[in-house]
Amino acid sequence: MVYEVLDSGILDMLMFSINPAYDYQKEGDYAIGGVNERPNLYRRCESEGVGISVMKAFAGGQLLNAKTSPFGKALTEYQCIQYALDKPGVITVLPGVRSCQDLRRILGFTDALPKEKDYSILGTFAPQEAKGACVYCNHCQPCPAGLDVGLINKYYDLALTGDDLAKYHYVSLNKKAKDCIQCGHCDSRCPFHVSQVERMEKIREYFGE
Ligand code: SF4
Ligand code: SF4
Repeated sequence: MVYEVLDSGILDMLMFSINPAYDYQKEGDYAIGGVNERPNLYRRCESEGVGISVMKAFAGGQLLNAKTSPFGKALTEYQCIQYALDKPGVITVLPGVRSCQDLRRILGFTDALPKEKDYSILGTFAPQEAKGACVYCNHCQPCPAGLDVGLINKYYDLALTGDDLAKYHYVSLNKKAKDCIQCGHCDSRCPFHVSQVERMEKIREYFGE
């Protein structure tokens, strides 16, 4: 259905439910689309200029409690929000709030420390087919050569879908894949088992550097 609407070319924005439980096909009425299909949809939205407004970032609250989380471990609201914001095409996340107290706590995201938003724990839940795919989380920072690993990967993945703007953004970066010194620091830090040493080489070749 969502593809039909995108094909029509009439959309500027899409409300879509994004959270790790749905993306990893754990459960939920909105856990539609395969582990690879969902990221492709997000990329398509970004490359076609369709902004995604995220709903159900906490899977209706299930992800916030270890007893109800399909992973058996709780995530925090800030981890879930950051997870959604890192997805291509996402421009906003709209969590449901029941009170001013809820709203204040959610807004605390804007002042939260990087470690409060770090969702690298997800690497221990990720299904086999999601392993090796960069989720642009930048948990692997700092790169000694100064590369923004997550952003470079995001632009590359978008460029593969034919996104010319992403290509332009990549070319405008100060540090690119060609500057990677293949030190392997990011590979040792990546919770999602991505080999950036190999990937940077591929990206460098793709952009003809
Ligand atoms: S390589 Fe791993 S840690 Fe680094 S941005 Fe990608 S998924 Fe995150
Ligand atoms: S392997 Fe390349 S991208 Fe990764 S930390 Fe080292 S220099 Fe940076």
